[in-house]
Amino acid sequence: MTAATLPPAGEQATQGKVISPLLGTYKRAPMEFVRGSGFYLYDGDGKEYLDFTSGIGVNALGHADPGVMQAMQTAMQTGLIHVSNLFRTPAGERLAMALTENSFADSVFFCNSGAEANEGAFKFVRKWARKNFSTEKSEIVAVRGGFHGRLFATLAATDRPSYRAPFRPLAGGISISERNLEALKVTLDRETVAAVILEPVQGEGGVRVLDPEFLRGVRELTREREIVLIFDEIQCGLGRTGRLFAYESAGVTPDIVTLAKPLAGGLPMGAVLMRADIAAAIEPGEHGTTFGGGPFVAAVAEHVFSRLNDEALLRNVRENGEWLGEQLRALVGQSEKVRAVRGTGYIWGLDVGEAAANIVKRGWDAGLLILTAGEHTLRLLPPLTASRAELEKGLSLLKAIL
Ligand code: PLP
Repeated sequence: MTAATLPPAGEQATQGKVISPLLGTYKRAPMEFVRGSGFYLYDGDGKEYLDFTSGIGVNALGHADPGVMQAMQTAMQTGLIHVSNLFRTPAGERLAMALTENSFADSVFFCNSGAEANEGAFKFVRKWARKNFSTEKSEIVAVRGGFHGRLFATLAATDRPSYRAPFRPLAGGISISERNLEALKVTLDRETVAAVILEPVQGEGGVRVLDPEFLRGVRELTREREIVLIFDEIQCGLGRTGRLFAYESAGVTPDIVTLAKPLAGGLPMGAVLMRADIAAAIEPGEHGTTFGGGPFVAAVAEHVFSRLNDEALLRNVRENGEWLGEQLRALVGQSEKVRAVRGTGYIWGLDVGEAAANIVKRGWDAGLLILTAGEHTLRLLPPLTASRAELEKGLSLLKAIL
């Protein structure tokens, strides 16, 4: 099929006949974006859309950020796009140093996506448990409402029956526990469980900020039973909660943090941050990935990380986020259409009385891009650079489409 005969984007298939060569894994919106600038995306007709999706939490600095563009130009001038993980590059070394110097971690593994970061973390904890304890200690426990990716092991840790059912059997040795301490006290057997994975703020699962008290309880329990605590900060980390890492907002230090989405400003990159004793369990050849941490993406990520690790930006996210939360909570009283509001920083969810996808579609007409997080939950992920003025604009468009 040639470009000229392509149907409008979004029409994936009719009556079993494929009419676009793009695999129909997403219900794509009808508009096509041809340009991005700051908080806005533009379609072919020049229509402007305020982007409160940030590319599902990726474009933390908005679109066409001059610093990110410059970092790419500078990286291009080295001529180094890829050299393979058989060799070191200054960008990769510096990025690893920046991540460890600014976190609890001693060591970093770079990869290309969120799911790949979590899959890597699962392998590292299994090896750590095998080396330090026994082959029995291998189970990975996730919690209700969590989302960790779409590959076989991460899907086994993801609590979405419709995502899982068509692809069984999923990876073994991974289970999902109820999201409370009582259940975890029973599930977390010292002899068989190697790790617990959870998102401090559950994103896809409806925007749920996990209670710091619960997180502290999980920390105590895992420490006591020599179980690794993995925080999946792929969506909620790197500034989204108003702290560099979401674990800082919760006041709990995990043993592993996984990152991806915003890390390289829109280029694909994931990372697993871990303590030295976990890193010490991994021998050369035991894990790898061709593209992970290449010099080009690492150079851009180094810039993005330095921008997100900025107290003024983080304070804005905290202060404006609190304001946004107040405005959104006020909607619950004003309209029976908004039933509940949850969130923190620049990640907010609204439970709504109609299909959330319908409201998202009305947003397209009104020039506002927002997300769903479940059938009846809207999700807002504004760029972390959005000021009060952009939040106000987004809020007034949101009220109009509600
Ligand atoms: N973990 C969390 C918390 C996520 O939100 C996502 C993606 O939405 C993933 C993992 C998977 O990341 P990726 O789509 O890059 O594989």
